[in-house]
Amino acid sequence: MRIIEFDLHGFRNLRDARLSFPDDGVALVGRNAQGKTNLLEAIHYLETFRSFRGSRDEDLVRFGSDHFRLEAVLEGNGKISRLTAAFQRRPKEKRVTLNGDAVSRLGDVIGSAATVLFTPEDIGLVRDGPAGRRRFLDVLLALSSPDYLRALQTFRHALSQRNAALRSRADGSAVSAWNPTLLRAGAEVSWSRAVWVRAFAPVFGERYAEVSGGEAALLSYQPSVTDAFEAVAAEDLVERYRAALAASREQEASRLTTVVGPHRDELAFFDAGRDGRRDLRAYGSGGEQRTVALALRLVELETARDRRGLEPILLLDDVFAELDENRSERVLEVLDRVAPGQVILTAPKESDVRFRGQRLTRWAIEDGAIGS
Ligand code: ATP
Ligand code: MG
Repeated sequence: MRIIEFDLHGFRNLRDARLSFPDDGVALVGRNAQGKTNLLEAIHYLETFRSFRGSRDEDLVRFGSDHFRLEAVLEGNGKISRLTAAFQRRPKEKRVTLNGDAVSRLGDVIGSAATVLFTPEDIGLVRDGPAGRRRFLDVLLALSSPDYLRALQTFRHALSQRNAALRSRADGSAVSAWNPTLLRAGAEVSWSRAVWVRAFAPVFGERYAEVSGGEAALLSYQPSVTDAFEAVAAEDLVERYRAALAASREQEASRLTTVVGPHRDELAFFDAGRDGRRDLRAYGSGGEQRTVALALRLVELETARDRRGLEPILLLDDVFAELDENRSERVLEVLDRVAPGQVILTAPKESDVRFRGQRLTRWAIEDGAIGS
């Protein structure tokens, strides 16, 4: 997939512009705080319709303005599409169109643009708490499958209603009324995540080895309702979940929240340390954690190709800044091999643009103004 044209209006510090992207992409070069990440954020917005930085739509509107509008002409599998997203503050309204038609449910267009974004903050996926890892899985799987998105929405709704009932100390039946929905949707969410991990763990291992220069690492899904996921059949998972829920009643009563389910599951990374399996979330070095994060993004790329049939646009936000020379050389090699499509990368200095040598078109960015 590639972005051909991009119309920007009122987005963060970026000047209003109509950009025409070369087929193989661009290197966006500019000092700190000029708007490099903002441009990647704007492109990425058209895939998920939210900020990858977790900002609210309100925060994406240029200071002093009242709305933003993004419009892209994209090409994927030989088909041209035109996608727009607009948000206005007052009255608050978000509008999305695909090929001129208004889209009433975002779920219908989420993922029609495909990107994979690498940012320095990705290290947080490994180092920080489990919520970010679950979000990673949820976004990835929701983009790959409408069924997953539906199951996730159903689960979240049931969970929040059930937690509200627990908090209000309602009688047991008000709580357990949510159990069937919670169990069915929750088991589907956990199961889909685990199936994905099982399918893509080998790719993860391969990419980790390639970037690290031969080290082995493992990707593992750890559901909160059973230790031995591998031994459980899909239909048995609901039963396990039911049993775990029943066993957690006392804990629920004291903590006033649902304590087992996919919202408590974990994604873990291990390598073979000298004294056995070593948990890279807790004990990995900065470089190792960064390598895990890179491997995860590379697996995301593979997933888009495999499950969505799309070759994503590669968005590289200043990613080589903190890797040692060897690792960054190897990342470049891997990316060149596995992602031959369009790439939009940012770098603070011309000398940091090593990807694809001199072939990539340079654009300068200063104070939100993009020029060649
Ligand atoms: P770095 O190299 O430090 O990562 P960058 O070029 O990626 O810098 P951006 O993150 O894109 O910088 O941010 C550029 C500027 O945009 C920042 O100075 C920020 O304050 C500004 N900015 C953020 N949100 C808005 C907004 N809603 N309106 C106007 N400016 C904004
Ligand atoms: Mg930046």
